[in-house]
Amino acid sequence: MEVKSMAAMEKGADLEDFTFEIAEPGPNECIIKVETCGVCYSDIHLLNDDWKLSKFPLVPGHEIIGKIIRIGSEVQNHKVTDRVGVGWQRISCLTCKECLAGNENYCQVNFQTTAGKYYGGFASHINVDSRFTFSIPKKLDSKGAAPLLCAGAAVFSGLRAAGMTSGQEIGVLGLGGLGHLAVQFASKLGNKVTVFEYMKERTELAYELGATEVIVTSEGIPKNLENPLSILINTVNKPIDLRSYMRLLKPKGTMNLLASIPMIEIPYSSIVYQQKRIMGSVIAGRSEIVEMLQIAERYNIEAYIEDYHLDEVNVAIDALKNAKLKYRAVITM
Ligand SMILES: [Zn+2]
Ligand SMILES: [Zn+2]
Repeated sequence: MEVKSMAAMEKGADLEDFTFEIAEPGPNECIIKVETCGVCYSDIHLLNDDWKLSKFPLVPGHEIIGKIIRIGSEVQNHKVTDRVGVGWQRISCLTCKECLAGNENYCQVNFQTTAGKYYGGFASHINVDSRFTFSIPKKLDSKGAAPLLCAGAAVFSGLRAAGMTSGQEIGVLGLGGLGHLAVQFASKLGNKVTVFEYMKERTELAYELGATEVIVTSEGIPKNLENPLSILINTVNKPIDLRSYMRLLKPKGTMNLLASIPMIEIPYSSIVYQQKRIMGSVIAGRSEIVEMLQIAERYNIEAYIEDYHLDEVNVAIDALKNAKLKYRAVITM
């Protein structure tokens, strides 16, 4: 069938109309009629070929929600008309120890939804592996839920991996697409959340999302906190003052760097004398994505969005690139 999409023809280029054919679904595949797709900073990395895995023409988009219109003969977990979501990961080997432990995101056979030979979600339709498509709970709105598939999964898994339970002091560094979801998950699961945000005008939003305290970092990072943090999750894509932030953790506290930041210098004394940890994590395994979506429905967690039509995708990408978005951009078809 014919698919209409927006694609970049070469590295760094604007997206333009691009039509291609997709085959009938293979045994485990399904074809989704895309309803909406979030715009993630990873799409910009792919368009710039920052990770040396992009192939052009490149159709970005990996926060996809839509309805299944065709399924392969072996598909058991979904049926035609189901509303499903697709995130960053297209498939894993499903047989290695990491896959069997539910850590498919750390499998060595890890194909991305949009990279290499695959086309992503800025398109009318997408052919995906049904084993990496997730039912979207009824109460969630498609546009508000689309960013959960990558941004939501990444922060939820990142917080869990750093040891989030409830009743903890948790810091969220940055209040963008990732951060505004991290604040919601951490606060609604019963934690006291401190937001560290550069822009003072975002203070109100932080409180609205569930923060108990907001520190405007353009006015300085405090030397210490009355209640030091168990976990600090970084959602900022730029270099951060790691040494200062590590001071705000309690002994044995964990910093999850999460977002892709350049080379870091390790603050040795925090790690050795206070047994603090610095970790990273990337997206989420399938079981965590299912759990995250259930929690999102139960606690009414959705992304705050700015809506663009597929024709306006370049405007949305520019806005994200230049930090002009107030919320998460989503593209509707
Ligand atoms: Zn993403
Ligand atoms: Zn595997």
